[in-house]
Amino acid sequence: MSAQVINGKEIVSEYRAQIKEQVATLQSKGVQPGLAVVIVGDDPASHVYVRNKAKACEEAGMYSEVHKLPENTPEQELIELIEKLNQSAKVHGILVQSPLPKHISEERVVEAIAPGKDVDCFHPVNVGNLMIGKEGPLPCTPAGVIEILKKIGADIAGKHAVVIGRSNIVGKPMAMLLLREHATVTVCHSRTKNMEEITRQADILVAAVGKAKMIKSHHVKPGAIVIDVGINRLDTGKLAGDVDFDDVLDTASYITPVPGCVGPMTITMLLRNTLEAAERAAGVRVTV
Ligand code: NDP
Repeated sequence: MSAQVINGKEIVSEYRAQIKEQVATLQSKGVQPGLAVVIVGDDPASHVYVRNKAKACEEAGMYSEVHKLPENTPEQELIELIEKLNQSAKVHGILVQSPLPKHISEERVVEAIAPGKDVDCFHPVNVGNLMIGKEGPLPCTPAGVIEILKKIGADIAGKHAVVIGRSNIVGKPMAMLLLREHATVTVCHSRTKNMEEITRQADILVAAVGKAKMIKSHHVKPGAIVIDVGINRLDTGKLAGDVDFDDVLDTASYITPVPGCVGPMTITMLLRNTLEAAERAAGVRVTV
């Protein structure tokens, strides 16, 4: 039987409508959530991401500002801008689009962002809070995956979840959030031996590898939920996930399409984090 293709568009539009209402409620109490996005250089894909993020913010009724800096911007100048944004009352969330030019240290830049405004959840303080289960922003892509799983009614507790990839942005925090939902979690990476034996045990399989169509039906247990985080540009110019969608379709029970599911859900979680950062800054709660 063919897997159910998860309707990312519907999930995202429902979620964003809810955020828009909460933003309006917060605004009626005198607070408009605001996001500042900073981009350095001319990478075309990064400019598209930044535009999409700013547009999503505005559509949700949030304030947004975009700072475009030239490729040769000195690190100190970028850090000074972040320090200004840390002080700005209009800005509750700060996002610095990666990748940064080679002469700038991502680590120093991330650490310059006030933890309360770190809506990507990259600051070591927030990463630490995530580890110990303290309240704070959740990393956008993994949080989006958890929301997708909840939306389809997946029962995560006690299930074996296998995450392929261990990056700081996706794989590691994904494993942590699945653990928080009481899954039994295994993380695979480039040194994993006999990966197929492990992925075939997964009730929930999350692919975050960055290799187009690498995950085939023989990696998947019949009936598994398959979540594809990957975004890879093919030579044809088309986008493909890390999962070979057509090959896996008849094996999985649910599968996410690429594009159109985890990507837009990631931006939705960015909106949620900005809204919650504004709530925390103002000491007012409109979300539940
Ligand atoms: P990274 O390149 O940072 O990490 C890739 C991970 O995959 C590494 O842990 C690596 O292992 C592992 N890996 C690589 N090759 C293999 C292999 N053959 N077998 C098993 N594991 C392997 O990528 P990211 O985590 O940043 O991103 C992953 C994918 O998700 C990309 O396609 C990216 O574009 C996409 N992405 C999508 C987002 C969205 O919004 N939908 C957001 C962020 C990323 P090792 O650590 O050993 O090197």
